[in-house]
Amino acid sequence: LLPNPKDTNATILLMGLRRGGKSSICKVVFHNMQPLDTLYLESTSKPTTEQFSSLIDLSVMELPGQLNYFEPNYDSERLFSSIGALVYVIDSQDEYLNALTNLSMIIEFAYKVNPKINIEVLIHKIDGLSEDYRMDAQRDIMQRTGDELLDLGLEGVQVSFYLTSIFDHSIYEAFSRIVQKLIPELPSLENMLDNLVQHSSIDKVFLFDVNSKIYVATDSSPVDIQTYEVCAEFIDITIDLDDLYVENDDDDDNNTKQPRELRSVSHLSQGSILYLKQMIRGLALVALIKNEDARSLPGNNDNDFDQKLQSNSAVQDKSLTIIDYNINLFKKALMRMWEHSRFVPVESNNN
Ligand code: GDP
Repeated sequence: LLPNPKDTNATILLMGLRRGGKSSICKVVFHNMQPLDTLYLESTSKPTTEQFSSLIDLSVMELPGQLNYFEPNYDSERLFSSIGALVYVIDSQDEYLNALTNLSMIIEFAYKVNPKINIEVLIHKIDGLSEDYRMDAQRDIMQRTGDELLDLGLEGVQVSFYLTSIFDHSIYEAFSRIVQKLIPELPSLENMLDNLVQHSSIDKVFLFDVNSKIYVATDSSPVDIQTYEVCAEFIDITIDLDDLYVENDDDDDNNTKQPRELRSVSHLSQGSILYLKQMIRGLALVALIKNEDARSLPGNNDNDFDQKLQSNSAVQDKSLTIIDYNINLFKKALMRMWEHSRFVPVESNNN
């Protein structure tokens, strides 16, 4: 029996020793828990799974560290052959030699069962380390992992490393990159976003999973963490305002309710605009638009201020019309891509 293509390569397995931070990561990223509240989390004792859907249905499975998955009674072979990425969490504030031994044992097994598996290592809890020490820890962990794999005859295996913490956006950035590797449509998506940027005077655009704030794609310009933060927070603000609006809306007797499509535009100082539009399947597009035209208009003293403001909004109205139009085209293309991706033949996963 061939597996359903939508089930393969879409699961992320989260592993690591006890107290490494696995449950905290899931709670913060997928359940909006405040990082400090994870202090009181009970340690995981049974496997848990988080679901979220983007262009493909992804699930993150967390395995508690203390169970032994290499016992014959556990069907670990089937498990590893059906997952797309193994994410191993290492507590960088703790003695990590045991974790590295455990990691290479798992890599050896996972790679044998499923050579196409992505192996991702989170060097976690880096908030407690000084800048210098972070680099040292990363170098040391990469070196030792490389040595262990060499000993096992697995020097060809690709392993990616990320410095992460739940107290800043590094955990979202890492998960975004891990998830993106599992989306077969990524190159076309990036292409479409690059096109959008070029034709709409957009500075940076993200396609977000609204619930987790993981971005499943962005245009090819480099990601600046501050821009990411502003765009991610704009999602929460928009949703909060929308909830308010919906409550007031109930007062009117409006029976012709259509499914609403969330769209929100915020004019920042200096002529920049934040733009959000709901896409499909829990995704939202968020763009930062820098208004270069408005900034270069004359008006260096206060008397010109009103005039400058008016010109600003004229320019913004014009460019917003274009942006609305282009983003609608993008959304249609995204829908077509999604419909198409449901009928991907099984063979295309095996290339
Ligand atoms: P698990 O056993 O791997 O699921 O680990 P937990 O999620 O229970 O986390 C163990 C402890 O690590 C908790 O007290 C968390 O608050 C703490 N922790 C998790 N992530 C971080 C982090 O990024 N930085 C710091 N400083 N502590 C963290």
